[in-house]
Amino acid sequence: MQEPACNAYLDNAATTPVIDEAIEAMNDVLRHAWGNPSSSHRVGYAAKEVLEQSRATIAECLGVDADEVFFTSGATEANNLAVRGACMARKSESRRIVTSSLEHASVTRSVRGMRREGWDVEHIEDVAGDFDMEQLHRALLKPTTLISVMRVQNELGWLLPVPEIVAARDELAPSALVHCDATQSFGKLSTPPRDWGVDLLTIAGHKIGGPRGIGALYVKRGTQMFTNAFGGGQERGLRSGTEPVFLAAGFAVAAKKACENREANLAHAYGLKARFVEGLHDAAPDAIVNSRDDGSPYIVNVSLPSLFNQDLLDFLGERGIFISNASACTENHTTVPKGTWRPKHPLSLQAAGIPLKLGKSTIRVSFGFDTTVEEVDLLLQGIKDFSNMG
Ligand code: PMP
Repeated sequence: MQEPACNAYLDNAATTPVIDEAIEAMNDVLRHAWGNPSSSHRVGYAAKEVLEQSRATIAECLGVDADEVFFTSGATEANNLAVRGACMARKSESRRIVTSSLEHASVTRSVRGMRREGWDVEHIEDVAGDFDMEQLHRALLKPTTLISVMRVQNELGWLLPVPEIVAARDELAPSALVHCDATQSFGKLSTPPRDWGVDLLTIAGHKIGGPRGIGALYVKRGTQMFTNAFGGGQERGLRSGTEPVFLAAGFAVAAKKACENREANLAHAYGLKARFVEGLHDAAPDAIVNSRDDGSPYIVNVSLPSLFNQDLLDFLGERGIFISNASACTENHTTVPKGTWRPKHPLSLQAAGIPLKLGKSTIRVSFGFDTTVEEVDLLLQGIKDFSNMG
C-alpha cells in the first residue's frame, strides 16, 4: 500500500502513527495469543493472560487497580458509557447533569440523549479558557447526579480545572459522580484519577502511539454502573463483546512508553509550541493564538484572519504538511441565543469566545512525541508562503 508522502504530520490530536513497539506487540499477539479470552482452554487462557497484563499496565500508568479499568472501543464509547451508564444506574436520583460547554460530541450528544429522556442539563461556560467556577458553584446548589468535564479541550488545548471541580463537588454536591474525558491528556500530561478524586475517566490508545479502536474507562471501585453493551458479559458485565486482545496489547505498550517518557516529551512539546508561536509573528503577523500558555503544549489553535483555512490546508497538503482546520466550527453557522444549546453541532468555537467570522480562518496544529523542529519550520514556511501569495 502506498502511504501519502508526508513531510510534516502536525495533526496528532486527531490521531498518531502507531509506534513500532506497539505494532510488534500486536503482531505477536495476533500470531500467538489469538484465542478468545473467555474460552476455558489453553488457547483462551493465553489470550486472557495478555489481556489482563495489558489491563494491569494501563492501570499502573493511571495509578489505579486493574479491576477499575474497563476496555472499550475507544474514547467515544467510554464517554457514552460513562454518561449513560452512570445516569441509568441512578434514575431514582436528581436526574440532573452538569457539564461544560466545550465537551467532545461523544459527551455532549450522550448528555443530550439524557435530556431527551427528561433529565435536567446545565452547561458551564468556558469562554477564553476561563472555566466559570462561579456558575459551577451555583449549579451544584441543585441536587446533581453527574458532572462530566474534560481535562484538555481537543480543539484549543485549554485545561479544565478538574481538581477544583472535584473540590466543588465534595463541598456542594457530594453524592454527584465526576466523569473526566482525559482523551487528550492521558500519556501527555499528568492524569491521576485518584489524586483528582474523579469517579470515571476516559482514555484512548490512538492519541499516544497506540492503535485506533481501543480505549478504556476507569471506574472507581464500588461505583454502580449500567451497561450500554448487552451480550456475553465480558469486561465484568460492563462491556460485552469478545475483547480485541491485540489492540489491548498495543495500547498497553504505547501507554507504558508515553507514561515513562512523559516529562521529557512534555518539555519537547513546550519547545515546539514556543518555536511555532514565535515563528508565527513572522509567518503571519495578524495571527491570533487562541491557545493559552497554561494549556496543553501539544495543541496550538490559531486564527489567521486573512486566510481561508481549507485553502491553507490544501496548499500545505500539496507540500506533504498536514494540520487540521478547527473542524468543529465548520457547521457552526447558526447564532444561538445565550443559555440555549446549539441544535446542530455540539462544539462551537463561539462557545469558546472565538468570533464566528474567524471560524473558517482557524486552524489546529497538534504535536506528537516524535514531532521535530524541522516539521514545525516547514509548517511556518508554508504559512508564510501561502500568506504572501494572497
Ligand atoms: N474525547 C476527546 C477529547 C477527543 O479528542 C476525542 C477524539 N477526537 C474523543 C473523545 C473520541 O475519541 P475516539 O475517536 O477514539 O472515540
